Amino acid sequence: MTLLDDRSAAPSPDALTPRTYIVRTYGCQMNVHDSERLSGSLEAAGYVPAEGDDADVVVINTCAVRENADNKLYGNLGQLASVKRGREGMQIAVGGCLAQKDKNVILEKAPWVDVVFGTHNMGSLPSLLERARHNGAAELEILESLEVFPSTLPTKRDSTYSGWVSISVGCNNTCTFCIVPSLRGKEKDRRPGDVLAEIEALVADGAIEVTLLGQNVNSYGVEFGDRQAFAKLLRAAGRIEGLQRIRFTSPHPAAFTDDVIDAMAETPSVMPQLHMPLQSGSDRVLKAMRRSYRSERFLGILDRVRHRIPDAAISTDIIVGFPGETEEDFEDTLRVVEQSRFASAFTFQYSIRPGTPAATMPDQIPKQVVQERYERLAELQDRISWQENRAQVGRGVEVLVASGEGRKDGATHRMSGRARDNRLVHFEVPQHSPVPRPGDLVHAVVTQAAPFHLLADDPSGSPLRITPTRAGDAWDRAEADSCAVPSAAPAEQGAPRVVSLGLPTLRIGR
Ligand code: SF4
Repeated sequence: MTLLDDRSAAPSPDALTPRTYIVRTYGCQMNVHDSERLSGSLEAAGYVPAEGDDADVVVINTCAVRENADNKLYGNLGQLASVKRGREGMQIAVGGCLAQKDKNVILEKAPWVDVVFGTHNMGSLPSLLERARHNGAAELEILESLEVFPSTLPTKRDSTYSGWVSISVGCNNTCTFCIVPSLRGKEKDRRPGDVLAEIEALVADGAIEVTLLGQNVNSYGVEFGDRQAFAKLLRAAGRIEGLQRIRFTSPHPAAFTDDVIDAMAETPSVMPQLHMPLQSGSDRVLKAMRRSYRSERFLGILDRVRHRIPDAAISTDIIVGFPGETEEDFEDTLRVVEQSRFASAFTFQYSIRPGTPAATMPDQIPKQVVQERYERLAELQDRISWQENRAQVGRGVEVLVASGEGRKDGATHRMSGRARDNRLVHFEVPQHSPVPRPGDLVHAVVTQAAPFHLLADDPSGSPLRITPTRAGDAWDRAEADSCAVPSAAPAEQGAPRVVSLGLPTLRIGR
């Protein structure tokens, strides 16, 4: 039996045992959020999440932005081919940016794939899977432009306490290193009423934090002709009762206007945090990147943000080794980084992305030069991050307790979460302390700083100061639903309480 024949052997999702699925996600937050929508669409069509890696349907949500994305995808597909041979009825779907870019190349290189779909038609996945199964042939559907705003699709959220909300998709800029405009199309803005309705629904489900998401959030409104739409949206979201933390990503320095800074400063639930990509500190390189601001404007925005929001933690993205970058250009980047005092930075080594204008520019920088500059930049930024974090020692922080933020929490007996300024904080749970739930707020004092996190361990061993939240209650309910354990009552401050670990409950005594 050939792999193509296997397709017709797939039982219908209507069969008595629901088909299981898994979504593997590569790339940015936009992709992570898209994957929530893919899961939501599949579950609305009757699929159920697989336990572990063994699934009837494997969906790969690809990213074309990162280096070697193609190699990783085809490596993954190669492994899945042998899994599929041993599992009757299994289907493989590939979607996202790389699918949008490569289209039928994927089916030529990996003919055992059942469905290829683009960034504009995520909602079609269940029907494409069904069609591929029924016809016994691969389905390819790539739309060139968006038909339905993705946020109208069902969503399966990964977190009960925090959610992503798309305000726009696509981008009208033409940065020469970026593949997004050609894959995600022109910016499409969602109506403010729809955005606010989705936030309200999230809050009604227990979320206390949202992150507004767009390739270029502060050009929001360009489609319906309101230049101040983003600031207005922040203020309107700030009036939603029960919503305690609003974040957004990412703004573009060229479109960053003072009305947004005012809205940030005057809306208590907008967090004192800003992630704004610098990309380069050299004006010459910024021009070659077709980024229309210059370093002076960038630094001016930081000054104005810090003037209005003194505790703001500012982070950024920087690309090292863009074609034509000289040592002098790179030193400009170091200078701007030194002046900017970023709390953290995502630094990237430039590498060619086929299909982007920069890919064919002359003067590509040799790998070892890029590596050497990258290391110098990382060393500088790590030093600054550490200095900025050390300045936090002794300060009080409000930590939104997270699940899955602290990879070493099991070994260190700590829990983790994000402070209001988005710094990662780990804190010890003293022996006789009540234990917070993901979604609860913990009030602690920073005792130690590392470049990438803060510690807030109380040396006195006093019980944690916890504010139980609706988000914590929602976490309890979700845990109870997933393991048929009755949900616990909200934790009284300092009282023994039930901690749900996803298995039988464990009672923590005092
Ligand atoms: S602003 Fe530039 S880097 Fe960001 S998505 Fe648009 S084109 Fe890409």
